[in-house]
Amino acid sequence: MRIPLGVPDIGKTEQKLVAKVLRSGQLTRGPVLQAFEEQLGGYLGVKHCIGVSSGTSALHLALLAHGIGEGDVVVTSPFTFIASANAILYVRARPRFVDIDPKTYNIDPSKLNEAIDSKTKALILVHVFGLPCDMRPIIEICEDHHLTLIEDACEALGARYEERKVGTFGTSCFSFYPNKVVTTAEGGAVCTNEDEIAERVDALRNQGRKRGEWLEHAYVGYNYRLSDVHAAIGISQLGRIDRANAIRERKAQSYSEALKRFPQVTTPPHVKGRTWFVYVIELNDRDRIGRRLVDAGIECKPYFPPVHLQAPYRELGFKEGTLPVCENASKRVLALPFFTKISGRQIGQVVASLGGLVERPIDTR
Ligand SMILES: *Cc1c(COP(=O)(O)O)cnc(C)c1O
Repeated sequence: MRIPLGVPDIGKTEQKLVAKVLRSGQLTRGPVLQAFEEQLGGYLGVKHCIGVSSGTSALHLALLAHGIGEGDVVVTSPFTFIASANAILYVRARPRFVDIDPKTYNIDPSKLNEAIDSKTKALILVHVFGLPCDMRPIIEICEDHHLTLIEDACEALGARYEERKVGTFGTSCFSFYPNKVVTTAEGGAVCTNEDEIAERVDALRNQGRKRGEWLEHAYVGYNYRLSDVHAAIGISQLGRIDRANAIRERKAQSYSEALKRFPQVTTPPHVKGRTWFVYVIELNDRDRIGRRLVDAGIECKPYFPPVHLQAPYRELGFKEGTLPVCENASKRVLALPFFTKISGRQIGQVVASLGGLVERPIDTR
Protein backbone atom coordinates (compact mmCIF):
# COMPACT_ATOMS: atom_id res chain seq x y z
CA MET A 1 0.00 0.00 0.00
CA ARG A 2 1.26 3.44 -0.99
CA ILE A 3 2.09 5.92 1.77
CA PRO A 4 2.05 9.56 0.64
CA LEU A 5 4.49 12.20 1.86
CA GLY A 6 1.69 14.44 3.06
CA VAL A 7 -2.11 14.61 3.19
CA PRO A 8 -4.15 17.72 4.08
CA ASP A 9 -6.57 17.18 6.96
CA ILE A 10 -9.89 18.54 5.66
CA GLY A 11 -13.03 17.91 7.69
CA LYS A 12 -16.79 18.49 7.56
CA THR A 13 -16.53 21.97 9.09
CA GLU A 14 -14.38 23.17 6.19
CA GLN A 15 -17.02 21.93 3.75
CA LYS A 16 -19.84 23.61 5.69
CA LEU A 17 -18.08 26.96 6.00
CA VAL A 18 -17.07 27.00 2.33
CA ALA A 19 -20.64 26.18 1.27
CA LYS A 20 -21.90 29.03 3.44
CA VAL A 21 -19.59 31.53 1.74
CA LEU A 22 -20.65 30.27 -1.68
CA ARG A 23 -24.31 30.75 -0.75
CA SER A 24 -23.66 34.23 0.71
CA GLY A 25 -22.70 35.80 -2.61
CA GLN A 26 -19.71 37.62 -1.06
CA LEU A 27 -16.82 35.58 -2.40
CA THR A 28 -13.98 37.98 -1.74
CA ARG A 29 -13.09 41.05 0.38
CA GLY A 30 -15.86 40.02 2.78
CA PRO A 31 -16.46 39.30 6.45
CA VAL A 32 -15.07 35.76 6.41
CA LEU A 33 -11.65 36.98 5.33
CA GLN A 34 -11.74 39.58 8.08
CA ALA A 35 -12.78 36.95 10.64
CA PHE A 36 -9.90 34.70 9.57
CA GLU A 37 -7.42 37.57 9.85
CA GLU A 38 -8.66 38.43 13.34
CA GLN A 39 -8.56 34.80 14.43
CA LEU A 40 -4.96 34.46 13.24
CA GLY A 41 -3.96 37.70 14.96
CA GLY A 42 -5.55 36.52 18.19
CA TYR A 43 -3.86 33.15 17.98
CA LEU A 44 -0.41 34.62 17.43
CA GLY A 45 -0.82 37.63 19.66
CA VAL A 46 -0.03 40.13 16.93
CA LYS A 47 -1.84 43.36 16.09
CA HIS A 48 -2.36 42.97 12.33
CA CYS A 49 -2.72 39.95 10.05
CA ILE A 50 -3.33 40.56 6.37
CA GLY A 51 -4.49 37.58 4.34
CA VAL A 52 -2.80 37.22 0.94
CA SER A 53 -2.79 34.76 -1.94
CA SER A 54 0.27 32.73 -0.85
CA GLY A 55 3.32 32.57 1.39
CA THR A 56 5.34 33.77 -1.59
CA SER A 57 3.24 36.90 -2.07
CA ALA A 58 3.43 37.48 1.71
CA LEU A 59 7.25 37.54 1.48
CA HIS A 60 7.16 39.84 -1.54
CA LEU A 61 4.82 42.31 0.16
CA ALA A 62 6.73 42.24 3.45
CA LEU A 63 9.91 43.34 1.65
CA LEU A 64 8.06 46.01 -0.37
CA ALA A 65 6.26 47.37 2.69
CA HIS A 66 9.60 47.79 4.47
CA GLY A 67 11.00 49.67 1.48
CA ILE A 68 13.61 47.05 0.54
CA GLY A 69 14.67 47.39 -3.08
CA GLU A 70 17.43 47.93 -5.62
CA GLY A 71 20.88 48.33 -4.11
CA ASP A 72 19.93 46.64 -0.83
CA VAL A 73 21.29 43.35 0.43
CA VAL A 74 19.03 40.89 2.27
CA VAL A 75 20.54 38.10 4.32
CA THR A 76 18.82 34.72 4.41
CA SER A 77 19.33 30.97 4.72
CA PRO A 78 20.31 28.73 1.79
CA PHE A 79 18.46 25.80 3.40
CA THR A 80 14.83 26.66 2.75
CA PHE A 81 12.09 26.55 0.17
CA ILE A 82 13.21 28.71 -2.77
CA ALA A 83 10.42 31.28 -2.28
CA SER A 84 12.22 32.73 0.78
CA ALA A 85 15.06 33.89 -1.48
CA ASN A 86 13.09 34.57 -4.67
CA ALA A 87 11.20 37.36 -2.90
CA ILE A 88 14.53 39.19 -2.57
CA LEU A 89 15.01 39.00 -6.35
CA TYR A 90 11.44 40.21 -6.98
CA VAL A 91 12.30 43.56 -5.36
CA ARG A 92 15.68 43.74 -7.17
CA ALA A 93 17.65 43.43 -3.96
CA ARG A 94 20.59 41.03 -3.60
CA PRO A 95 20.42 37.89 -1.50
CA ARG A 96 23.34 37.00 0.75
CA PHE A 97 23.27 33.47 2.11
CA VAL A 98 24.59 32.61 5.56
CA ASP A 99 25.37 29.00 6.40
CA ILE A 100 23.25 26.96 8.78
CA ASP A 101 23.61 25.09 12.05
CA PRO A 102 24.07 21.39 11.23
CA LYS A 103 21.64 20.22 13.95
CA THR A 104 18.71 22.64 13.60
CA TYR A 105 19.18 23.49 9.88
CA ASN A 106 18.42 27.12 10.81
CA ILE A 107 20.71 30.05 10.02
CA ASP A 108 23.81 30.03 12.27
CA PRO A 109 23.73 33.24 14.35
CA SER A 110 27.49 33.09 14.93
CA LYS A 111 28.02 33.58 11.18
CA LEU A 112 25.64 36.52 10.84
CA ASN A 113 27.86 39.42 11.88
CA GLU A 114 30.51 38.79 9.24
CA ALA A 115 27.83 38.78 6.51
CA ILE A 116 26.52 42.24 7.31
CA ASP A 117 27.82 45.41 5.66
CA SER A 118 26.53 48.93 4.97
CA LYS A 119 24.26 47.67 2.16
CA THR A 120 22.56 45.02 4.32
CA LYS A 121 19.01 46.18 5.09
CA ALA A 122 17.05 43.12 6.13
CA LEU A 123 17.19 39.55 7.37
CA ILE A 124 14.68 36.95 6.20
CA LEU A 125 14.74 34.42 8.98
CA VAL A 126 13.33 30.98 8.22
CA HIS A 127 12.09 28.73 11.04
CA VAL A 128 12.74 25.68 8.97
CA PHE A 129 10.66 22.48 9.43
CA GLY A 130 8.86 24.16 12.38
CA LEU A 131 11.95 24.58 14.55
CA PRO A 132 12.32 28.14 15.91
CA CYS A 133 15.53 30.05 15.17
CA ASP A 134 17.77 31.08 18.05
CA MET A 135 16.09 34.47 18.47
CA ARG A 136 18.09 36.05 21.31
CA PRO A 137 21.39 36.65 19.43
CA ILE A 138 19.55 37.31 16.19
CA ILE A 139 17.42 40.12 17.65
CA GLU A 140 20.53 41.68 19.11
CA ILE A 141 22.33 41.60 15.76
CA CYS A 142 19.30 43.12 13.99
CA GLU A 143 19.15 45.92 16.55
CA ASP A 144 22.89 46.61 16.39
CA HIS A 145 22.86 46.91 12.59
CA HIS A 146 19.36 48.41 12.20
CA LEU A 147 18.20 45.48 10.09
CA THR A 148 14.56 44.87 9.28
CA LEU A 149 13.61 41.44 10.62
CA ILE A 150 11.28 39.44 8.40
CA GLU A 151 10.31 36.01 9.66
CA ASP A 152 9.48 33.36 7.11
CA ALA A 153 7.30 31.41 9.51
CA CYS A 154 5.57 29.46 6.72
CA GLU A 155 6.56 26.14 8.28
CA ALA A 156 6.18 27.09 11.93
CA LEU A 157 2.64 28.23 12.78
CA GLY A 158 2.23 27.70 16.52
CA ALA A 159 5.93 27.17 17.29
CA ARG A 160 7.34 29.04 20.29
CA TYR A 161 10.68 30.48 21.28
CA GLU A 162 10.79 30.85 25.07
CA GLU A 163 6.97 31.01 25.31
CA ARG A 164 6.65 33.63 22.57
CA LYS A 165 5.15 32.45 19.28
CA VAL A 166 7.34 32.74 16.21
CA GLY A 167 5.97 35.21 13.75
CA THR A 168 5.69 37.89 16.45
CA PHE A 169 9.33 39.04 16.55
CA GLY A 170 9.33 41.02 13.31
CA THR A 171 7.10 41.32 10.28
CA SER A 172 6.21 37.71 9.55
CA CYS A 173 4.97 35.62 6.66
CA PHE A 174 2.82 32.50 6.73
CA SER A 175 1.73 30.08 4.01
CA PHE A 176 -1.46 28.05 3.88
CA TYR A 177 -0.47 25.74 1.03
CA PRO A 178 -1.93 22.20 1.44
CA ASN A 179 1.31 20.72 2.81
CA LYS A 180 1.31 23.21 5.70
CA VAL A 181 -0.32 22.38 9.06
CA VAL A 182 -3.07 24.97 8.41
CA THR A 183 -4.21 25.18 4.80
CA THR A 184 -6.59 27.36 2.80
CA ALA A 185 -5.74 25.43 -0.44
CA GLU A 186 -3.69 28.44 -1.57
CA GLY A 187 -3.08 31.36 0.74
CA GLY A 188 -0.81 33.21 3.08
CA ALA A 189 -0.60 36.09 5.53
CA VAL A 190 1.64 38.97 6.56
CA CYS A 191 1.58 39.69 10.29
CA THR A 192 2.95 42.77 12.02
CA ASN A 193 2.56 45.00 15.05
CA GLU A 194 3.39 48.11 13.00
CA ASP A 195 0.32 50.05 11.80
CA GLU A 196 2.11 51.64 8.87
CA ILE A 197 3.45 48.32 7.54
CA ALA A 198 0.00 46.74 7.85
CA GLU A 199 -1.55 49.63 5.95
CA ARG A 200 0.96 49.29 3.12
CA VAL A 201 0.57 45.52 2.85
CA ASP A 202 -3.21 45.93 2.83
CA ALA A 203 -2.96 48.43 -0.04
CA LEU A 204 -0.32 46.49 -2.00
CA ARG A 205 -2.32 43.25 -1.99
CA ASN A 206 -5.27 45.15 -3.49
CA GLN A 207 -3.88 47.05 -6.50
CA GLY A 208 -2.34 49.79 -4.36
CA ARG A 209 -5.69 50.98 -3.03
CA LYS A 210 -5.83 52.49 0.42
CA ARG A 211 -8.73 51.38 2.58
CA GLY A 212 -12.08 52.79 1.45
CA GLU A 213 -10.79 54.29 -1.80
CA TRP A 214 -11.75 52.17 -4.79
CA LEU A 215 -10.55 54.14 -7.78
CA GLU A 216 -7.55 55.78 -6.21
CA HIS A 217 -4.30 53.89 -6.33
CA ALA A 218 -1.54 55.11 -4.03
CA TYR A 219 1.01 52.51 -5.16
CA VAL A 220 1.70 50.13 -8.03
CA GLY A 221 0.04 47.25 -6.25
CA TYR A 222 -0.78 43.66 -7.03
CA ASN A 223 -3.74 41.35 -6.91
CA TYR A 224 -2.51 39.24 -4.02
CA ARG A 225 -5.88 39.00 -2.27
CA LEU A 226 -7.10 35.98 -0.32
CA SER A 227 -10.72 35.13 -1.12
CA ASP A 228 -13.44 34.50 1.47
CA VAL A 229 -13.82 30.98 0.07
CA HIS A 230 -10.21 30.24 0.99
CA ALA A 231 -10.48 32.08 4.30
CA ALA A 232 -13.45 29.86 5.25
CA ILE A 233 -11.24 26.77 5.00
CA GLY A 234 -8.66 28.56 7.15
CA ILE A 235 -11.13 29.41 9.94
CA SER A 236 -11.93 25.77 10.46
CA GLN A 237 -8.29 24.71 10.17
CA LEU A 238 -7.06 27.33 12.60
CA GLY A 239 -9.65 26.17 15.12
CA ARG A 240 -7.81 22.84 15.29
CA ILE A 241 -4.20 24.05 15.12
CA ASP A 242 -3.14 23.27 18.68
CA ARG A 243 -4.66 19.80 18.50
CA ALA A 244 -3.02 19.18 15.11
CA ASN A 245 0.37 20.30 16.42
CA ALA A 246 0.02 18.08 19.51
CA ILE A 247 -0.88 15.05 17.39
CA ARG A 248 2.04 15.71 15.05
CA GLU A 249 4.39 15.95 18.02
CA ARG A 250 3.29 12.47 19.15
CA LYS A 251 3.69 11.04 15.63
CA ALA A 252 7.18 12.53 15.39
CA GLN A 253 7.99 10.95 18.75
CA SER A 254 6.86 7.52 17.59
CA TYR A 255 9.06 7.82 14.51
CA SER A 256 12.10 8.83 16.58
CA GLU A 257 11.44 6.11 19.15
CA ALA A 258 11.17 3.42 16.47
CA LEU A 259 14.23 4.68 14.56
CA LYS A 260 16.46 4.52 17.66
CA ARG A 261 17.30 0.93 16.72
CA PHE A 262 19.12 2.11 13.60
CA PRO A 263 22.33 4.02 14.37
CA GLN A 264 22.68 4.70 10.63
CA VAL A 265 19.71 7.08 10.88
CA THR A 266 20.03 10.52 12.46
CA THR A 267 16.66 11.59 13.85
CA PRO A 268 15.51 15.24 14.06
CA PRO A 269 15.85 17.34 17.24
CA HIS A 270 12.93 17.22 19.69
CA VAL A 271 13.24 20.66 21.27
CA LYS A 272 10.73 22.48 23.42
CA GLY A 273 8.46 24.82 21.47
CA ARG A 274 9.06 23.35 18.04
CA THR A 275 6.27 22.18 15.74
CA TRP A 276 6.43 19.45 13.12
CA PHE A 277 5.93 20.58 9.54
CA VAL A 278 7.76 17.53 8.19
CA TYR A 279 9.75 14.66 9.66
CA VAL A 280 13.28 14.77 8.26
CA ILE A 281 16.06 12.26 8.93
CA GLU A 282 19.71 12.16 7.84
CA LEU A 283 21.38 9.22 6.16
CA ASN A 284 24.55 8.24 4.34
CA ASP A 285 23.59 6.86 0.97
CA ARG A 286 20.41 8.96 0.97
CA ASP A 287 19.83 8.84 -2.79
CA ARG A 288 19.84 5.05 -3.04
CA ILE A 289 17.67 4.54 0.01
CA GLY A 290 15.25 7.28 -1.04
CA ARG A 291 14.84 5.65 -4.46
CA ARG A 292 14.22 2.26 -2.90
CA LEU A 293 11.57 3.66 -0.56
CA VAL A 294 9.79 5.33 -3.46
CA ASP A 295 9.92 2.04 -5.38
CA ALA A 296 8.27 0.39 -2.37
CA GLY A 297 5.42 2.94 -2.48
CA ILE A 298 6.74 5.07 0.35
CA GLU A 299 6.86 8.65 -0.83
CA CYS A 300 9.83 10.64 0.47
CA LYS A 301 11.73 13.72 -0.65
CA PRO A 302 15.23 15.20 -0.19
CA TYR A 303 14.19 18.44 1.61
CA PHE A 304 15.90 20.86 0.90
CA PRO A 305 18.41 21.14 -1.93
CA PRO A 306 20.53 24.30 -1.41
CA VAL A 307 18.84 27.41 -2.81
CA HIS A 308 22.16 28.97 -3.89
CA LEU A 309 22.81 26.02 -6.22
CA GLN A 310 19.50 26.28 -8.09
CA ALA A 311 19.89 27.51 -11.70
CA PRO A 312 18.79 31.17 -11.25
CA TYR A 313 21.20 31.57 -8.33
CA ARG A 314 24.13 29.90 -10.10
CA GLU A 315 23.51 32.40 -12.90
CA LEU A 316 23.93 35.18 -10.35
CA GLY A 317 27.35 33.75 -9.47
CA PHE A 318 26.60 31.64 -6.38
CA LYS A 319 28.89 28.59 -6.27
CA GLU A 320 29.22 25.14 -4.81
CA GLY A 321 31.58 24.84 -1.83
CA THR A 322 30.69 28.24 -0.37
CA LEU A 323 28.13 27.05 2.21
CA PRO A 324 29.49 23.66 3.27
CA VAL A 325 27.19 22.92 6.21
CA CYS A 326 24.08 23.45 4.11
CA GLU A 327 25.51 21.59 1.13
CA ASN A 328 26.46 18.60 3.28
CA ALA A 329 23.05 18.48 5.00
CA SER A 330 21.28 18.74 1.65
CA LYS A 331 23.03 15.56 0.50
CA ARG A 332 21.88 13.63 3.59
CA VAL A 333 18.35 14.77 4.40
CA LEU A 334 15.23 12.77 3.64
CA ALA A 335 11.66 13.78 4.51
CA LEU A 336 9.55 10.73 5.38
CA PRO A 337 5.77 10.43 5.04
CA PHE A 338 4.31 12.69 7.69
CA PHE A 339 0.84 14.17 8.22
CA THR A 340 -1.62 14.69 11.05
CA LYS A 341 -3.57 11.50 10.32
CA ILE A 342 -0.65 9.18 9.58
CA SER A 343 -1.37 5.92 11.44
CA GLY A 344 0.90 4.00 13.77
CA ARG A 345 0.80 1.18 11.25
CA GLN A 346 1.96 3.44 8.45
CA ILE A 347 4.81 4.74 10.59
CA GLY A 348 5.70 1.12 11.40
CA GLN A 349 5.72 0.24 7.72
CA VAL A 350 8.02 3.16 6.84
CA VAL A 351 10.40 2.30 9.67
CA ALA A 352 10.47 -1.39 8.71
CA SER A 353 11.26 -0.61 5.05
CA LEU A 354 13.85 1.99 5.97
CA GLY A 355 15.43 -0.29 8.57
CA GLY A 356 15.73 -3.10 6.04
CA LEU A 357 17.50 -0.78 3.60
CA VAL A 358 20.00 0.76 6.03
CA GLU A 359 20.96 -2.67 7.30
CA ARG A 360 21.82 -3.94 3.80
CA PRO A 361 24.22 -1.26 2.58
CA ILE A 362 26.02 -3.47 -0.01
CA ASP A 363 22.86 -3.83 -2.06
CA THR A 364 23.72 -1.16 -4.66
CA ARG A 365 22.20 -0.13 -7.97
C1 LIG B 1 5.63 26.93 1.78
C2 LIG B 1 6.73 27.88 1.99
C3 LIG B 1 6.77 29.12 1.32
C4 LIG B 1 5.85 29.52 0.21
O1 LIG B 1 4.52 29.42 0.44
P1 LIG B 1 3.48 29.31 -0.79
O2 LIG B 1 2.18 29.50 -0.12
O3 LIG B 1 3.66 27.97 -1.40
O4 LIG B 1 3.78 30.42 -1.75
C5 LIG B 1 7.79 30.00 1.64
N1 LIG B 1 8.73 29.69 2.54
C6 LIG B 1 8.74 28.50 3.17
C7 LIG B 1 9.81 28.23 4.17
C8 LIG B 1 7.75 27.56 2.90
O5 LIG B 1 7.78 26.36 3.50
